[in-house]
Amino acid sequence: MRVIALLLGLLLPVAVSAAKLVPLDVPPLEGADINQQFGTDPAQAYMPKQAVNSPRPPVFRVDAKDPDTKPLPYYKIAPDTYFFFGNIAEVDGVNRGFNGNAGFIVTRDGVVVLDALGTPALARRMIASIRTVTKKPIRYLVISHAHPDHYYGASAFASIPGIQVVSHVGTEAYAYSPTIERSVAYRKVFLPREMKHFQAVVPDLLIGGGNPAQLTIKLGGKTFEIYDTGFHHSHGDLVMWQKEDRILWISDLAFNGRVTYIGDGHLHDMDTMQDWMKQHFPDVALMVPGHGAPQTPPFAMVASTRRYVDTLTDKMRAAIQQGQSLQDAVRQSGIQEFESWPLYELNHWINANFVYRTLEEELF
Ligand SMILES: [Zn+2]
Repeated sequence: MRVIALLLGLLLPVAVSAAKLVPLDVPPLEGADINQQFGTDPAQAYMPKQAVNSPRPPVFRVDAKDPDTKPLPYYKIAPDTYFFFGNIAEVDGVNRGFNGNAGFIVTRDGVVVLDALGTPALARRMIASIRTVTKKPIRYLVISHAHPDHYYGASAFASIPGIQVVSHVGTEAYAYSPTIERSVAYRKVFLPREMKHFQAVVPDLLIGGGNPAQLTIKLGGKTFEIYDTGFHHSHGDLVMWQKEDRILWISDLAFNGRVTYIGDGHLHDMDTMQDWMKQHFPDVALMVPGHGAPQTPPFAMVASTRRYVDTLTDKMRAAIQQGQSLQDAVRQSGIQEFESWPLYELNHWINANFVYRTLEEELF
């Protein structure tokens, strides 16, 4: 991996113009059911006392009528470091897109935000939360990857004066792709108000794909190293190393307490990037995933995500070698250890399908 460090805080002047936006005026998708629930049961409402190593994720209900000025709940997970703990569920009419994590770090000279949650409305509530902690300017928004639950809130940050949006070059490509139009049309069915003025944000600072594979931001006594981790989960994935505090924001390189989604990335890259992560950051004190609780060593979530992906890969490879059809192989691909995990029913069969087709292309 090519690694070029840029000391952005020292070299780049603060931009005064707002981030570039791509308007997406698509109507809601017809035929989808606005009342569907994909995992959030409002009767089970629950907020853990602590986020780090929490055995249970929150079951947080987002009320459609809540004003955007109402702060979202957040957790302090380390000095100067704050965390938004999303539900473990698909986007539905109850979580209203709050089904992933995000966070922010306060430095002497401003705030760095990692991920923007799933709608501009949720992101405005994130900003309201940040404002209850500090009045310092929000200087950077780092988007770990362009999946909706991490990226679609970004336009709420884009108008903040001087903010720099950092992401993978894959996020820029996605902002102009037909895929985002379909995705936004689908999301508008569940979240008409929250997605009303959605615009896709084009990052100001790009990583990967001919750009540097690493950026270093120095801000207010803290160092943030942001690395290209390839395409293991999406169109382009990043991790962020909060150096002095030894916190690694791993995005969707491992999932804590839910089955991963691998319908979009590159199957073998996940193992490669997990190995790279272990080698490159041997002294991580806290890992913050995109889904599920932040974790202290020895990082069981990394091992379990890998076990799931490797077991599924082995099963599908064996099925192909035995000449099984896609349908038969997927039907027989169940993995008992993970059957009771959240989002298994929703993601596993998609994953099995994707893994079969990937391996088939490799073998023939
Ligand atoms: Zn995610």
